[in-house]
Amino acid sequence: MRYSAWRVFREGLRGQSGWAPVWRDPEPKKEYDIVIIGGGGHGLSTAFYLAKEHGLTNVAVLEKGYLGGGNVGRNTTIVRANYFLPGNSEFYSHSLKLWEGLEADLNYNVMHSQRGIINLFHSDGQRDAAARRGNAMINQGDDAILLDREGVRQYLPFLDFENIRFPVYGGLFHKRGGTARHDAVAWGYARGADQRGVDLIQQCEVTGIDIENGKVTGVQTTRGPIRAKKVGIVVAGRSSQVAAMAGMRLPIESHVLQAFVTEGLKPCLDHVVTFGMGHFYISQSDKGGLVFGGDIDFYPSYAQRGNLYTAEHVVEAAMTLMPMIGNAKMLRSWGGIMDMSPDGSPIIDKTHIDGLYLDCGWCYGGFKAVPASGFAFAHLIAQDRPHDTAKRFRLDRFRTGTGLMDEEGTGSQHNLH
Ligand SMILES: Cc1cc2nc3c(=O)[nH]c(=O)nc-3n(C[C@H](O)[C@H](O)[C@H](O)COP(=O)(O)OP(=O)(O)OC[C@H]3O[C@@H](n4cnc5c(N)ncnc54)[C@H](O)[C@@H]3O)c2cc1C
Repeated sequence: MRYSAWRVFREGLRGQSGWAPVWRDPEPKKEYDIVIIGGGGHGLSTAFYLAKEHGLTNVAVLEKGYLGGGNVGRNTTIVRANYFLPGNSEFYSHSLKLWEGLEADLNYNVMHSQRGIINLFHSDGQRDAAARRGNAMINQGDDAILLDREGVRQYLPFLDFENIRFPVYGGLFHKRGGTARHDAVAWGYARGADQRGVDLIQQCEVTGIDIENGKVTGVQTTRGPIRAKKVGIVVAGRSSQVAAMAGMRLPIESHVLQAFVTEGLKPCLDHVVTFGMGHFYISQSDKGGLVFGGDIDFYPSYAQRGNLYTAEHVVEAAMTLMPMIGNAKMLRSWGGIMDMSPDGSPIIDKTHIDGLYLDCGWCYGGFKAVPASGFAFAHLIAQDRPHDTAKRFRLDRFRTGTGLMDEEGTGSQHNLH
C-alpha cells in the first residue's frame, strides 16, 4: 500500500476501513541467507538496504521484543552532521543526506524537521573549539554558522545570558540539523524492508550463535534454531551479551541514558539547543512537550530506567541555562541502554568468525546514524568489504591502538563519551 494525500482523503470518506497492516507477521523459516539480530533502527535499516541496494531479500530480522521497543524508540530524536574527526565527519554527513531523502525513499512520514541546532559555548576556549568544528563541517560540505552572543539572543531570547558561572558567549548554528520522530523511523524502515520481502520476526530472542570450523552456520532462538550463511549482530546496549554467545569479548560498556518530557506547551523553542558547560540538550516536540536529556548514568547497567541523581543533575543544567523551564511540569522520563565504546565512535566490521558481522558502539548518538549505519552495514554484509564512509570503524583499533577516533578528546573512559 502506498501512502499519499489522496489515500488519506479516500480513507477519511470510508471510515478508515481500507488501511492494511504495515508489515506481515511471518513464522520464521528454517533457513535464511542472512539473519540480522536486533530490530532496532540499525537492524531494520540494514535489512532495508540489503534488499534495496543489493537485491538480497532472503533475510530475517530477529527481535526479542517488539520493533522499535529499544533505543530507537527511546531517544531524544536529534539528527545532525556536526562531527569533527575524519572518519566520523564523512559518515555523519552521508547519514544526513540520506535523512534528507528518507521520507521519499520510504514513502513514510518520519517527521524529519530541519529546525536547526545551536551548540552554545561559554568561554573563549570553547569559542575556538566551536570555530574549528564549524570549519571542519564546512570542509566536509555541511553547514555551520558561528553566532556571537547577540546572534544567539535573536533566536533564543529566554536563555540566562548573564549567568554568573556560565554566561553565554555564542553558539555554533547547524541549520540542517534537527529532529525526526524516532519510532516512525523504525516503522518506516520496517515497512520498507517487509515490502521488499524481508521477514521481520518479533518475540524471537537469539540465545546462541552456531559456529562450525570458524564459520557461522546459524542461530538458536526462543522460536527454534534458524540456519544462516551470514549473521549480523546489531543489538546496541546488548552487544556484549550477544557477542559473548560467539565467544567474543567486546570493548563495549552498557550504560543507561535517560530522557525527560514536560507537559505540552505552546510553541516556545524553535531549535535544538545544547548547553556547553554541562551535558544538557533540549528541543520541543510537535505535540508541545519539551524533550531533554543529559549525561548517562555513570555506572554500567542493563536496566532500561534511570536513577534520580542523574535526573537532578539534568534538571540543574536546565535551570542554569533556561530558568523558564522551572515553570513546566515534567510528565515522564525513561531510559535506554547505550553501547558505549572507549573512543566514543562506532564499530561496523567483520569479526574473526567467517560470516559474522558486528555493528555497535553508537554511544548516545546512534539515532542520527540509523540511515548511514544500515547503508554501510548492508554493504559490508553483501560485499564483504567496508563501505567507504565506514572503513575507519574497525574493531581492531581497540587492540592495536591505531585509528582511534576520540571525537570528544576524553580518552578511553567509556562513561565520559
Ligand atoms: C534517552 C536517549 C536519548 C538519545 N538521544 C539521541 C539523540 O538525540 N540523537 C541520536 O543520534 N541518538 C540518540 N540516542 C542513541 C540512539 O537512540 C541509539 O544509539 C540507537 O538507537 C541504537 O541503535 P538501535 O536503534 O539499533 O538500537 P535499539 O533500538 O536498542 O535496537 C537493538 C535491538 O536489539 C534487540 N535485541 C537485543 N538482544 C537481542 C537478542 N538476544 N535477540 C534478538 N534481539 C535482541 C533489542 O530488543 C532492541 O530492539 C539516545 C538514546 C537514548 C536511550
